[in-house]
Amino acid sequence: MTAVSNPLADLLAEKGVLLADGATGTSLFAMGLEAGEAPELWNETQPQNIVKLHQDFVDAGADIILTNSFGGTRQRLKLHKAEDRVFELNRKAAEIARGVADAASRTVIVAGSVGPTGELFEPMGALTYDVAVDAFVEQMEGLKAGGADVAWIETMSSADEIRAAADAAVRVGLPYTYTGSFDTAGKTMMGLDPKDIHGVAADIGDGPLAVGANCGVGASDILSSLLDMTAADPNATVIVKGNCGIPEFRGSEIFYSGTPPLMADYARLARDAGAKIIGGCCGTSCGHLAAMRGALDDYTPGPRPTVETIVDRIGPLRNKTASEAPPESARRQQRRRG
Ligand SMILES: [Zn+2]
Repeated sequence: MTAVSNPLADLLAEKGVLLADGATGTSLFAMGLEAGEAPELWNETQPQNIVKLHQDFVDAGADIILTNSFGGTRQRLKLHKAEDRVFELNRKAAEIARGVADAASRTVIVAGSVGPTGELFEPMGALTYDVAVDAFVEQMEGLKAGGADVAWIETMSSADEIRAAADAAVRVGLPYTYTGSFDTAGKTMMGLDPKDIHGVAADIGDGPLAVGANCGVGASDILSSLLDMTAADPNATVIVKGNCGIPEFRGSEIFYSGTPPLMADYARLARDAGAKIIGGCCGTSCGHLAAMRGALDDYTPGPRPTVETIVDRIGPLRNKTASEAPPESARRQQRRRG
């Protein structure tokens, strides 16, 4: 096996910490994407909007931009009768991001977003490991052809699915990262614990360039998961890409409570907790991202925070922590944010 390149390492060596981008879905909805519409189809029908998505994040200071290909497997595209266009839609997603990155005056890494297939593995569901690998290979071949630097496997719940995607990346010849979504009592829906994230695909290819968490529940919860991940392996390159504060339903619509100053503080706490790649997930606009850039520039990391510090500064946990400790007491949950 030939060694794959590590596009993250050089930039990390230069900058110490990298800023990944913010929300794709939330940003596209703000541009008029309809609920139930496949964002990936916009790579062909509304490419100017995808250019703007990436350009706004680059202008806000992102070092890493994620392609508009999260649902780009045949299983997800089938819901939109586009399962026969996997390669083209993913190639186009990467080409658009590549164009924005190459026009930037500094190095910007194009991360090929790869989300879950949405299907359950055997024996709970019908998806076999080999079918999953084939689906991810098909997607990643498009991402690679379009110029993605790395396969960015994200929002994962199942260790099997992470492994299948990592196997696919090796087969295609892309380096890879992966992040879990710890949205169920501090673990993923399939029971993966943040402290166990490091070993999931360590034996596949040269191993991941970085591992971590994205999405999940709120910004406080993901910082708690981050503490578990960096404690379990202080030398790992850990990604944290959390939602913008806490999701709140108003009618059928979701809003996120995070303000730019709150996300700036989230970024500083993430740095203090040992994250090397910090970004935002759902609800994180370019305005939030610019505040995070400002917070990280010239920032000297402080002491490692405790969960209590995180709750005081960012807000209450919405979920249990993975160690099954009870969530912060009701008294603390009612305290005002610092
Ligand atoms: Zn998210």
